[in-house]
Amino acid sequence: MTMTIARNSAKKMKAPKMKPPTAKPSKSSGPKRVFFFGNGKAEGMTAAPTEAQRKLILGGKGQGLADMTAAGLPVPPGFTISIPCCEEYYQLGRKLSQATKSQILESLAKVEKAMGKKLGDANDPLLVSVRSGAARSMPGMMETILNLGLNDKSVEGLAARTGNPRFAYDSYRRFIQMYSTTAMGLSKEPLEEMLHDLKHKIGVKTDPEIPAESLKELCDEFKAFYKTNKGAEFPQDPIEQLWGAVMAVFNSWEADKAVTYRRVEKISDLKGTGVNVQTMVYGNKGDKSGTGVCFTRDPNTGENVFYGDYLINAQGEDVVAGIRTPLKLSTLGDTLPKAYKELLAARKQLEKHYKDMQDLEFTVEDEKLYMLQCRSGKRSPAATFRIAVEMVKEGLITKEQAISRIVSEDIERLFYPVIDPSIDRKMLAAAKIATGIDAVPGAATGKVCFNAADAEALAAKGGKAILVRKETSPEDVGGMHAAQGILTATGGKTSHAAVVARGWGKCCIVGCDALRINYENGSMSVGDKTINDGDFLTLDGSTGEVFVGELPLKKPELPPSYYILMKWADGIRTLKVRTNADTPYDAENAIRMGAEGIGLTRTEHMFFDTEERRLAIQEMIVADNLDARKAALDKLLPFQREDFTGIFTAMAGKPVTIRLIDPPLHEFTPKDDAGFNKLSKITGISVEDIKHRCEQLHESNPMLGHRGCRLCITYPEILDMQVTAIIQAAIACARKKIKVLPEIMIPLTIAKKELAILTDRTRKVADELIKASKVKVAYMVGTMIEVPRAALIADKIAEVAEFFSFGTNDLTQMTMGLSRDDAGRFLPTYVASEKDGGVGVFKVDPFQSLDQEGVGALVKMGIQLGRQTNKNLKIGICGEHGGEAASVKFCHAVGMNYVSCSPYRVPIARLAAAQAVIADKAAKKK
Ligand code: ADP
Ligand code: MG
Ligand code: MG
Repeated sequence: MTMTIARNSAKKMKAPKMKPPTAKPSKSSGPKRVFFFGNGKAEGMTAAPTEAQRKLILGGKGQGLADMTAAGLPVPPGFTISIPCCEEYYQLGRKLSQATKSQILESLAKVEKAMGKKLGDANDPLLVSVRSGAARSMPGMMETILNLGLNDKSVEGLAARTGNPRFAYDSYRRFIQMYSTTAMGLSKEPLEEMLHDLKHKIGVKTDPEIPAESLKELCDEFKAFYKTNKGAEFPQDPIEQLWGAVMAVFNSWEADKAVTYRRVEKISDLKGTGVNVQTMVYGNKGDKSGTGVCFTRDPNTGENVFYGDYLINAQGEDVVAGIRTPLKLSTLGDTLPKAYKELLAARKQLEKHYKDMQDLEFTVEDEKLYMLQCRSGKRSPAATFRIAVEMVKEGLITKEQAISRIVSEDIERLFYPVIDPSIDRKMLAAAKIATGIDAVPGAATGKVCFNAADAEALAAKGGKAILVRKETSPEDVGGMHAAQGILTATGGKTSHAAVVARGWGKCCIVGCDALRINYENGSMSVGDKTINDGDFLTLDGSTGEVFVGELPLKKPELPPSYYILMKWADGIRTLKVRTNADTPYDAENAIRMGAEGIGLTRTEHMFFDTEERRLAIQEMIVADNLDARKAALDKLLPFQREDFTGIFTAMAGKPVTIRLIDPPLHEFTPKDDAGFNKLSKITGISVEDIKHRCEQLHESNPMLGHRGCRLCITYPEILDMQVTAIIQAAIACARKKIKVLPEIMIPLTIAKKELAILTDRTRKVADELIKASKVKVAYMVGTMIEVPRAALIADKIAEVAEFFSFGTNDLTQMTMGLSRDDAGRFLPTYVASEKDGGVGVFKVDPFQSLDQEGVGALVKMGIQLGRQTNKNLKIGICGEHGGEAASVKFCHAVGMNYVSCSPYRVPIARLAAAQAVIADKAAKKK
């Protein structure tokens, strides 16, 4: 009764005539906010001009449904309640506006017309699902409500119409269950228990075996439970059911698990979720029906094969819930050939449309295929590269598109650890306790945690956790993120755990049914073995094997597609990429990673290498006269020369920037009595005097103290020794016909005169050596720009420097007045948003991603002033920022010649530099 009243009143409502800003006005009121799709037409297609904007209105799921409908694929009719409705809902203090309600009812009328049925009709009911969908996929955030529109009358109508009372009552009990828990917040366990007890009572094992009569009784039990707990009858009016479900989806946007997920994933730009109301199709109608989830390519390897799972006679989440073991998609051609053929066509069509690997959800009802969802699928890093490269070869996308798709994390994750292959096979076999489904590749080792909170706590203390669960749910994402690896006892490759972990490239094994987990005791048994909370486990996500103990891990080999794509990137970028390397080993490694030179060699790291070297530098520091100091430096000279020769040889003609000594001397002094005694013995200086000398070196602000080029101003003989070592090494290499390009770099300059003194002295020492050697050696002398003053007077500095290298670690520290060593104590508060308990002063840690607004302004100014004096001035960056994608793009934009970063970040910089060029071109086209 109430149902008819509600609908009539909506129809009677007068449409206010107002001009909407974006879309066509709806008949009833206000701008169009609810979009119908069905029978080949999708109103959402014109919700906004671009695909990206449409997604922000319709949400990912809504857009996919609209796209598939418009493309002529078999999509059950429905409508999308757009994200602006969700925003409005919260603005109104969690209320649906009249305007939104009437648009919903109008769209419902369209669906009813398309289906020739009325929602919840007593004789032949239209049933719908109510599904959430934000602009970015948030797996499992809001549980879908299926079979809405069923009540005590329509369930009979459905039974009569289909001649299948078992199916009708199974659908009804699912609806009551989902509505009571998801929409009305009752706890799940009691209902699950009733279902379980029923199966036990009538002596069946699985859901499909329960007969109609028993399901009907179960529905009554569920309704009674609802009444007891809610103090009201289970809602019989389909429209009331609809409002409840829609509001539940909107409410789920602010539920804890959704908020946590957004925090972990750093999603802060989304405004809400959409709601999709869609005609039900039934995968649970019998053995010619089923439901499945698939990927258009293998999401682990990227191979172009159809990949997925399905279940016969099942509905909704049954496949991913891991209740029954799903079948492989490759067998669908045998079980439901007609539907499989249609699915193959849909696969092809959707890849062509989206030009990307798709994650699809489908249902088959009486052999007829229906598409329920499509979206870009999450994939392993190796698959990311393979798919991108193969799609270029298939002509689906351009090289530029392929390059633009890769993000830094894809590269980082390529370097997934594996269990050290040299480990003894027998030992490995003995450690193995079980095998599950290999959901996400890579290996991980850590201490077992049986709940998400423990894993988070352990990780916060710097420990390594392996999260072990029967299955995971969205409540667990915090702990899943904190863990090194994830292991579940149930579920398939498309389970919650697998999908979420894959997105992060995190080792994950699912469906390991040998595990008997006891949450209460904090232990699990596997065969006759017991594993307790805190014991070490090692997972191999590539094979699904689980091992006890902490096995050694190793980095793997890169897939061929990685090299192909990186070569494309190198062909596009204009910015050079160098590396920071202090040893020949680092240098060789960096070349393998694609480095084109060294942007920073820190010479002082070499002083720490052996005791001999440490003592020599200490001798130099405590020397109380010039001769003694020179004698000590003479001992260091051969070591430095040898190191430089090694690096020059490894770099084989590529430029090498060598920075002269930088840190304050106290970093080298002995720290304990044994050290003092030893030094005293060697130098003949009393322990007393040595201690005194070391104390003298103490500084209040060592980072602002006697360091950098200030050291060579006061002790020029250090510069003499280092320049001699560099040039002698260069001469030695040149004699062996090894090309060398040394760039001698003076750190921490603050004045032109200061730099002039040091560059003059450097050139004098170098030129004399070269002249005497009669060998041709070219070299350059330049400086680091890492004190704001140097950036401000860069035009003057450039008169005496041949190159600049921005040392953005110090420059950030000094521009902001924040110590990079200690800022970690409060910086997280500055970076975290207000929502997450921070103050949101910065979006990112300025020591990780260059502060473009402040520090960046100094960099820009330094470049501009420097090039004003010398338009060919060679300019680079050698701070940590040189390997961070956004900072690299900034360096490209301000016209640097190169960036320099740690070896493992070299590929990230190469890719970012290419992406910067591609973005430039796209911007120019516009
Ligand atoms: P999620 O966002 O978690 O993927 P969905 O909204 O896709 O949730 O719903 C989960 C599952 O419910 C789908 O994969 C599908 O099997 C089932 N489902 C949703 N809507 C319908 C429908 N109209 N008809 C049949 N099954 C549906
Ligand atoms: Mg889905
Ligand atoms: Mg510095």
